[in-house]
Amino acid sequence: MPSGKITVAVIGAGVAGLIVVRHISAKSQNFNVTLFEQTDKIGGTWVYTDETELDKNGLPIHSSMYKNLRTNLPKEIMQIPDFPFKNNNGPSFVHHSVIRQYLQDYAHYFNLYPHIRFNTLVKNIEPKTLSNNCNVWSVTCVNLITNTEYTKSFNVIILCNGHYTVGNIPLIRGIDDFRGNYIHSHQYRFPEKYLGKRVCILGASWSGIDIAIEVSKFAKKIYLSHNLPERLESVIADNVEERPGIKFIHENTIYFDDDSKAIIDDIIFCTGYQFTYPFMSEKVKIKTENNYVEPIYKHLIHTDMPNLFFMGLPALVIPFPMFHLQSQYILKILEGSIQLPSSEKMRIDSENEKKMLLEQGIPIRHIGKMKERQWAYYDEIAAAANIPSFPPVIKKIYHHTMKMRQLNLMTYKDYHYKIIDNENFTFRYC
Ligand SMILES: Cc1cc2nc3c(=O)[nH]c(=O)nc-3n(C[C@H](O)[C@H](O)[C@H](O)COP(=O)(O)OP(=O)(O)OC[C@H]3O[C@@H](n4cnc5c(N)ncnc54)[C@H](O)[C@@H]3O)c2cc1C
Repeated sequence: MPSGKITVAVIGAGVAGLIVVRHISAKSQNFNVTLFEQTDKIGGTWVYTDETELDKNGLPIHSSMYKNLRTNLPKEIMQIPDFPFKNNNGPSFVHHSVIRQYLQDYAHYFNLYPHIRFNTLVKNIEPKTLSNNCNVWSVTCVNLITNTEYTKSFNVIILCNGHYTVGNIPLIRGIDDFRGNYIHSHQYRFPEKYLGKRVCILGASWSGIDIAIEVSKFAKKIYLSHNLPERLESVIADNVEERPGIKFIHENTIYFDDDSKAIIDDIIFCTGYQFTYPFMSEKVKIKTENNYVEPIYKHLIHTDMPNLFFMGLPALVIPFPMFHLQSQYILKILEGSIQLPSSEKMRIDSENEKKMLLEQGIPIRHIGKMKERQWAYYDEIAAAANIPSFPPVIKKIYHHTMKMRQLNLMTYKDYHYKIIDNENFTFRYC
């Protein structure tokens, strides 16, 4: 690291980018941080738009929010630990606009706007080795307003470009000749357009279920097609029927894996997203197949280039508070109070973790989904950074939410939670 101030480039002004800039900018005597954002707004995926194709700068729409979306986690555990929600008594599962406002308030409160370069697309990131053997990064950006390109050098790169924009659509025989319409959930906005239609929703994870619930109020029939080992425990609506995966499609007919079939007007693919870093030099070796990004230590640090950080890789976590911990962990590394092991040791550590999870029978595409592993991860990085991890009440509310969701998909968002202290919470059904 240089003898003067360390220069840090953060890519993306979603939640992850904002939180990391909040922590690094607080140490302005040691760091100069610049946050590049391709749009003219902060909030990333929480910036809802009716548009589904291109934004005003001609770039693909980033956000995957739909009009009626309410959070799938209660705000009491979603909130960033040093910035509680103002309205503690309101509903727990809030509309996406509440989250967007919360992020704007966060950015104002911590005075983050001066660090942000809006309408600035990061086009290329290139590693460079200096004569003193130090590694720096050349970041090439385009100012989308003036259409001018410039390159700047940084000591550290933190990638916060989000992972819910490039939809994953499985290869299905006959899809090109499908006579109806199909979209990925990234392009889904409102349910009214499915009035009276026969809709196949492929995928029964968070988005698949959520979208099935709202589309069922308008559609004539929904086939919820998925490969989960068991049927859903909770009924969604009378017009929603579960089916296994799709075998092939012929004209308007979908043939399912159990040889049943259905005539369909529309398909919504809720089949997840692909992790992409389109701006990253090929000199930086990154594998992203199956959304398992390698070679990464502690789900965050490139093992061979420890001044390159990847935020937001773990899924099935509590993202905002996790970013809060990850950001402070990064800061401690940059300040030198956390000494990372050698590249070789970091690589062995991450390979051992992968091997152990594969041996437990977890398919590679699910390795990044933390679920119950998340708690140990938070504790580990918090301990390394010498900061408090989550209090037990967060895990308790999370488990309560998951249990209520399993019992009844239609009503779990009607619980209101209240944190009493680090251990205890209350809830009421509204
Ligand atoms: C439909 C949906 C519902 C969700 N619901 C919840 C929920 O209820 N609770 C919860 O906690 N989480 C939820 N999530 C997860 C959510 O993604 C995370 O909470 C969090 O918003 C991720 O933030 P991020 O900063 O990593 O990415 P993003 O919010 O995607 O932000 C990335 C930013 O990077 C910018 N960017 C990308 N590429 C470039 C580039 N080359 N140059 C410059 N800028 C760039 C983008 O414009 C964007 O502003 C949901 C996600 C989706 C898609």
